[in-house]
Amino acid sequence: MSNRTFTMIKPDATAAGNTGKIIDKIIEAGFSIKAMKWTQLSMEDAQKFYAVHAERPFYGELCEYMSSSPIVAAILEKDNAVESFRNLIGATDPTKAEPGTIRAMFATSIAANAVHGSDSDENAAIEGSFFFAGRELA
Ligand code: UDP
Ligand code: MG
Repeated sequence: MSNRTFTMIKPDATAAGNTGKIIDKIIEAGFSIKAMKWTQLSMEDAQKFYAVHAERPFYGELCEYMSSSPIVAAILEKDNAVESFRNLIGATDPTKAEPGTIRAMFATSIAANAVHGSDSDENAAIEGSFFFAGRELA
């Protein structure tokens, strides 16, 4: 169990003006922000970030969507961060996400589901270092 996870506020949420509300929810849930940046993925960046899903039928659309508007990438800290953050965001499919979760509140579809959250400590470290150099962590 590690105390760090990685998140992105996804293109649908930044484009809809929900960035601030989502950051508030994350802070209210007790996460502290170790690093954060507003940036936009190229198609190649998205393909690399989601390479683990390359064989899935939704991969092409996912990469197009993830490079369609800016995102906010962040490294977050809290006890049991990965699991705690997955609970905060809710299920991948927002129609199945618990009320009060970030995806239940802000996602528009299974693809455009407002936020990313790492699924393991190992992937949290890999994904965090995709966006941030060690000296960028506060
Ligand atoms: N996704 C999609 N269609 C699907 C499943 C996933 O477009 O049927 C997208 C969605 O944006 C999801 C991302 O691919 O967040 C990564 O999928 P994963 O199964 O890892 O879901 P997550 O870990 O984000 O809940
Ligand atoms: Mg995942």
